[in-house]
Amino acid sequence: MFKKLKRLARRLLASTFLRRYMWFFLPKGVYVFNYHRIGDSALTDFDRDIFSCRQDVFKQHLETISQHFTLVDTRELARIAKLPKLTRKYAMVTFDDGYLDNYTLAYPAMREQNVAGVFFLPTSLISGMDIPWWDEMAFILRSNVGNSVTLPGEPDSVMLHENSIDKDIRQFIYRAKRLEDYSAQDVLEHVRQQFPDVDPKSQAAQDQLFMSWQQVKDMADGGMEIGSHTINHHILARLSEEEQRHEIADSKAIIEEELQVPVTVIAYPVGRHHCFDDLTKSIVKESGYQLGFNNEPHYNASPIDPYDINRFSVNDDDLAKVVLNTMGSS
Ligand SMILES: [Zn+2]
Repeated sequence: MFKKLKRLARRLLASTFLRRYMWFFLPKGVYVFNYHRIGDSALTDFDRDIFSCRQDVFKQHLETISQHFTLVDTRELARIAKLPKLTRKYAMVTFDDGYLDNYTLAYPAMREQNVAGVFFLPTSLISGMDIPWWDEMAFILRSNVGNSVTLPGEPDSVMLHENSIDKDIRQFIYRAKRLEDYSAQDVLEHVRQQFPDVDPKSQAAQDQLFMSWQQVKDMADGGMEIGSHTINHHILARLSEEEQRHEIADSKAIIEEELQVPVTVIAYPVGRHHCFDDLTKSIVKESGYQLGFNNEPHYNASPIDPYDINRFSVNDDDLAKVVLNTMGSS
């Protein structure tokens, strides 16, 4: 009986008719939609899994969000977080990591539809020569179709095939994140040593993978908010207190110096609950931030912890699915 009901519920949720109307039935609270890259993922040789959606799909998302939610900025969210009861459905659009397409594709779409959002930046990636480990790893593997590659401490090698390279990269990165004795940086170093001739950095510079400070400034002048995503995008819970302080407080100072605007919000790198801790939250508060955002895929019901705000990672063209997939577990 229970199985039958579950099957029926799944079928109902799958119907487009219900998808369209489900927004009306969502519980009151704050819904934060987080994106990474916008555009056609097939055009990059770097990590394709970090793309949230194409620009036309993003525009549809903005329409849906504007239609069914009251959009809020960070100041308003800080106020709402203190309320004992929420009487509306609020939404916010955020971006992590500072990729160039945030400026060239997301920002114009947001201006067009009058949606202000928050862009969280790892300061080392802006106007810099640095690229994140997942992009470098994807680039090296993609340049080595036909070769095999090993993970540190594992005897079996993985063969990289032309017709399954995206899947191979996804699996390799998935496994790299879960090795007990090696960090992602160790795995990257191990892979670099196997293919010393590949040069992801010059390709990243040629593509201009990340925004410049001038582009960030344009967005800030155009009504977008800028937040910190630390300096080096390290998992904060794994750092010493001193290192956490440096990542949290100094990134704020760097952005404020570059843009001459106060920075009051931060998004924790990777952002799942094991990636930051109570010490992180207290340093964030002491450093003068008003809000801290995670990547736990739930809406926020009152009472809201201002230093632990949930965000849905948008990884599907169907925004209803992004919310529904996680509703059951919230
Ligand atoms: Zn990030």
